[in-house]
Amino acid sequence: SGPRKGRSVYPDAIRVTGARQHNLKSVDVEIPKGQFTVVTGVSGSGKSSLVFDTIAAEAQRQLNETFSAFQRGFLPSYGQPDADLIEHLSPAIVVDQKRLGGGSRSTLGTISDIAPLLRLLFSRAGEPWVGYAHTFSFNDPEGMCPRCQGLGDVVDVDLDAFVDWSRSLNEGALRHPNFKVGTWMWQVYANSGRFDPDKPLAEYTDAECHDLLFATEGRVPIGDGPAQVNASYEGAATKFRRLSIERDVAEMSERTREIAARFTTSRSCPACEGARLNDTVLGCRVHGYNIAEMAAMEARELHMLLDELDLPGAGPVAGHLRERVGHLVDMGLGYLSLDRRTATLSGGESQRIKMVRHLTSSLTDMLYVFDEPTVGLHARDVDRFVALLLELRDKGNTVLVVEHDRDVITAADHVVDIGPGAGIDGGEVVFTGAVAALATAATPTGEHVRRLPTLRQDPREPAGVLEIRNAYQHNLRGLDLDLPAGTLTVVSGVAGSGKSSLVHGAFVAGHTDAIVVDQTAVSTNRRSNTATYTGMLDPIRKAFARANGVSASLFSANSTGACPSCQGLGVIYTDLAFLEGFTSTCDACGGQRFTDDVLAHRLRGASIGDVLEMTAGVALDFFTVERKVQTILGAIVDVGLDYLRLGQPLTTLSGGECQRIKLAAQLHREGAVYVLDEPTTGLHASDIDTLLAVLDRLVDGGNTVLVIEHDLQVIAHADWVVDLGPEGGDDGGAVLFEGPPTDLLRASGSHTAAALRRAVD
Ligand code: ADP
Ligand code: ADP
Ligand code: ZN
Ligand code: ZN
Repeated sequence: SGPRKGRSVYPDAIRVTGARQHNLKSVDVEIPKGQFTVVTGVSGSGKSSLVFDTIAAEAQRQLNETFSAFQRGFLPSYGQPDADLIEHLSPAIVVDQKRLGGGSRSTLGTISDIAPLLRLLFSRAGEPWVGYAHTFSFNDPEGMCPRCQGLGDVVDVDLDAFVDWSRSLNEGALRHPNFKVGTWMWQVYANSGRFDPDKPLAEYTDAECHDLLFATEGRVPIGDGPAQVNASYEGAATKFRRLSIERDVAEMSERTREIAARFTTSRSCPACEGARLNDTVLGCRVHGYNIAEMAAMEARELHMLLDELDLPGAGPVAGHLRERVGHLVDMGLGYLSLDRRTATLSGGESQRIKMVRHLTSSLTDMLYVFDEPTVGLHARDVDRFVALLLELRDKGNTVLVVEHDRDVITAADHVVDIGPGAGIDGGEVVFTGAVAALATAATPTGEHVRRLPTLRQDPREPAGVLEIRNAYQHNLRGLDLDLPAGTLTVVSGVAGSGKSSLVHGAFVAGHTDAIVVDQTAVSTNRRSNTATYTGMLDPIRKAFARANGVSASLFSANSTGACPSCQGLGVIYTDLAFLEGFTSTCDACGGQRFTDDVLAHRLRGASIGDVLEMTAGVALDFFTVERKVQTILGAIVDVGLDYLRLGQPLTTLSGGECQRIKLAAQLHREGAVYVLDEPTTGLHASDIDTLLAVLDRLVDGGNTVLVIEHDLQVIAHADWVVDLGPEGGDDGGAVLFEGPPTDLLRASGSHTAAALRRAVD
């Protein structure tokens, strides 16, 4: 084999030599095979660049090379990672946090391959016997409910949206744009002679209402003069139904679909009551339950039921089923039911569900790669989850996980700590070895493993209350709650306990001025960058204009001063038909973005191209006299993004970085209510300190901050904690505790309190 630096410590290891992807500084690293390795480090240090963009990308690329060119055309493409050598790779399976999405036919049962086992169970042990396994599927014509075609819901005209009862036909009582006053569809009703076009609909008799909206009898004249024809009459709602609801959605334009959605509501199918199956299938029972009832049970309950079953003839099937459902429970997902639509699952839930399939796989010698698999998981559930990772390892696989969670780090066989800082201050392996040695290492991660959460001793006094009344979303049962305004309040509880239902469903819906700072992409436009998004580019351009006595517009990427080859981007994007495109530095301007004439204009020695290459931290020292630029840069540095370059496209930001740059853009507000959902996702303990400092600043500036979080460091730092539970799903939805974290320590019956007691011990 090729050149090899250093001596291998592990007889059998995936060996990376000279990795330089993104910020990696020619990293050499070994991932021992058949072990459980955690890669950790502050955010932006280069963990993803090493794990996903180097190791996993190379494994997938090499695997793809084994396919024919024709087959490769259908596969995602992976560029060759920037590294000298990557040896002893295994085929990689990347289990990521991309949401499962999927249409209404995709459920937890179908996606986890548990549904086929359940159908098999019914075909073997169901009474009376109705048929083979496929008949128990709502996706099969033999099994589906004929009324809703197996969807469980039916869509109907929302009459209160469709018509304005206070208006007459001439005043535009029919709200759908196709029935607007003056259109021929409108004429059908207004000129039919069947109705008084000036009478408000509220004054119609029941018979007239029925005639206008639903009737399908008689004929009406359409058009004027010689072109007039007689057409059969159809009530307005019936017509809308036929044209917009009963049509195949795939045939409708996006706009038609959007408009249709405004005038329709969906409700549980009256024939099957949402069970999606026909009567014959629903009549077949095992242990008194039909298949829809079993699919609607929480996984936890179903698991207990399967334990009780004694089914001669279906024993092995029931055993497999019990094993898989048990995996869901062990994964902290026991509150979900098999009939839950995948589109409603969070990223963390999606990742854990993808893992269920692999747990029963008999492949060995694989490389499993996970991206923060404990996202959204309560401390109580982390141990059981780690046991599953170990199970995967013990089957003879290599498990490689990017994680910050202390309990996961301390369970690893091997740790790779990347750092010490982010961006150009990171990209090195600062520690590698066994966990025991990490606990004494002088790295941010070493400190984190040693440190205990600090309980806030001096909670802030509330400045008023924010009310939640009668909340009934999902598993909440008429909840009333007063949240303290002007404080940092954390809503905690095990997964599925109702945190999102309370905060997003009940609170945000009732306080429409609340600012939700989430992790969704800031922009998908390649032209948006740190400087444009935060509003500092304008004052920077003005500073250049003043210093050089020229127009500020010269320094705009839209101006004639921009490099004509890359239009001021500094890079060229090459889109390839079937393959993922790639980015290269613009040859014409060498990445400087502007023409030589523009670049000749200097501000304290730097060109506009130089400035856009600066990191926020460097720029803060450069823009000492430009007050506005200074303030914005200060906010970016305060949220821990000092390593972002001013010209860095926002499309390269991670979810956590997106959330923090949104925060940075909000830091100047006062009297606002901020809502953050799991802001510690993707954050290392030392990043969490930075985040908490930002949240404190917001609260001290007269704002209210409401955070959904399971991270104990954040919970301990709150002024006020609302803990939901005690469990997920139907056994959750109750407020177990409200008060400051020091009191939470003494609360009984709360998993959060128990975890906090363990952590500060
Ligand atoms: P981590 O996973 O530790 O949070 P990353 O590996 O995502 O860190 O990022 C390391 C550095 O590489 C950061 O400075 C980041 O901005 C940069 N980076 C990440 N992805 C890209 C990309 N596609 N193009 C350019 N720079 C990138
Ligand atoms: P948490 O945020 O604490 O994890 P959630 O509020 O997401 O909890 O969930 C509370 C309960 O509501 C769980 O039983 C969950 O399965 C259910 N639930 C949440 N979202 C939906 C949804 N879109 N459809 C049906 N049930 C849901
Ligand atoms: Zn139905
Ligand atoms: Zn250029």
